[in-house]
Formats: sequence, C-alpha cells, structure tokens
Amino acid sequence: MVKTVRDYIRTIPDFPQAGILFRDVTTLFADARGFRMAIDQLLTPYAGLRIDRVAGLEARGFILGGAVAHQLSTGFVPIRKKGKLPARTIEQSYLLEYGEAVVEMHDDALQPGEKVLLVDDLLATGGTAEAGIRLIERLGAEVVGCAFVVDLPDLGGRKKLEALGMEVHALCA
Ligand code: IMP
Repeated sequence: MVKTVRDYIRTIPDFPQAGILFRDVTTLFADARGFRMAIDQLLTPYAGLRIDRVAGLEARGFILGGAVAHQLSTGFVPIRKKGKLPARTIEQSYLLEYGEAVVEMHDDALQPGEKVLLVDDLLATGGTAEAGIRLIERLGAEVVGCAFVVDLPDLGGRKKLEALGMEVHALCA
C-alpha cells in the first residue's frame, strides 16, 4: 500500500505532559521518501505564485522551511523564541494555555512588500503561527500562505488564521 505523509508520523502519549497526544514528526523527517513527499506537498498550492522568502517557526519549522526555501530558491527567515537571535529584533507575545510566550524576528529580516510563506510542523491553537504572522506584517511584508504538515482542527488554529484572512494549507489532520 502506498504510504501517505500521515503514515510516517507517530503519536506519543503523555508528552510533554500527561494527557497530551504528541504528534512526533521526527519519524517523517528521518525517512527519505516521507520527507520529500512532505516538502513536495507543502509546496503544491503555491506553484506559480510569487514567494520572496520562507519564514519558519522554531524549531521543526526550520527543518521544513529550510527545505521548502531551497526548493523554491528563496531565502529562509527564522522566527525564534525570545533571546536566541543575535541582532536587533522585534518581538511578539502570545498566550499559551498557562501563561505567555514570546517569539522574535530580526528587524531587518524582511523588506516591505515581500511575499512570505510561513511554515511549521503543526497547527494547534494557532497562537504561535498568529504571532509569526504579526511579526511578518509588522515588517511590512505579506503572508501569502501558512503551510503545516499537521492540523489539529479541534484546537481551532485554522479558524483563527482564516479569520485573519490567511490561506491555511495542511497535509493531514
Ligand atoms: P499552537 O501555537 O497552539 O498552534 O501550537 C503549535 C506549536 O506548538 C508549533 O510550533 C508546534 O511545533 C508545537 N506543537 C504543539 N503540539 C505539537 C505536537 O503534538 N507535535 C509537534 N509539535 C507540537
């Protein structure tokens, strides 16, 4: 039987805490066929569109985003957790279930008017991706799409991003 992207992803119960079913994409990344399939499928909706840069969310979004950027022959821009980027940054906070997190981008990472594809492994509540979108837009660039390997629709992320006018693309649920 032909394997799909979903077949390469394993689910780990009770990680990082009891009651959470963690989707582990390292098994997808580790498989040559699976990884290529995922990158090819992430790109499918954007054929023929102008994309100037790919932005990836830390950390698995770097692995996917780097490969996507290479395939598109664009540059790659990291959106990192606070305190990791060396030059001047802009930051954006977002709510977690308990508390708050902050992501950052170099303030010269994008030019106004650039078209950006945002990439991450998984969309849950959409808080992380929304913070990334806000950073990209604050630099005057435009998000042309948000691409994920996994969408967990019950957690509302797709709805949240679509309410911001975003095109959301995911390979499996
Ligand atoms: P959100 O902000 O609630 O949409 O959570 C998405 C972020 O958390 C992404 O950066 C994911 O990498 C990470 N994440 C949340 N749950 C999982 C999971 O089950 N597997 C892998 N990453 C996850």
